[in-house]
Amino acid sequence: MFRPADELALGRALEVARAALVTGDVPIGAVVLAADGTELAAACNAREALGDPTAHAEVLALRAAAQVVGEWRLTGATLAVTVEPCTMCAGAIGLARVERVVFGAWEPKTGAAGSLWDVLRDRRLAHRPEVVGGVRAGEAAALLESFFADHRA
Ligand SMILES: [Zn+2]
Repeated sequence: MFRPADELALGRALEVARAALVTGDVPIGAVVLAADGTELAAACNAREALGDPTAHAEVLALRAAAQVVGEWRLTGATLAVTVEPCTMCAGAIGLARVERVVFGAWEPKTGAAGSLWDVLRDRRLAHRPEVVGGVRAGEAAALLESFFADHRA
């Protein structure tokens, strides 16, 4: 269920996403919040910056959050990301036992949180986070669209 704080979390993820532009990375940002709303970690997509195919914003943010917490289980945590997670990130989110996932724009080509697949809420899995999609979706989509428009130009 949508919570007013989700819009703030998405705002923070959008801010983080813009940092990816410096390295020519697709501007996607993610933030991990503890159960009490405290920010544990934030990261932007860094595939180009790190030359790493797995350096998606969600994976980097989950790793950093686990470092802060001191264990791999992010019980009670919320992950907010500007774009619907892919299959890899949905898998990582499940492994981290994240409780809620809030995302901005839907990604019909690769989305694994309700678009192409719904890995996060697959009933065959024991751990299924709550998913809230489409939060500040217009802003999240506009950021991506302007990035790809610049690249085509
Ligand atoms: Zn991903």
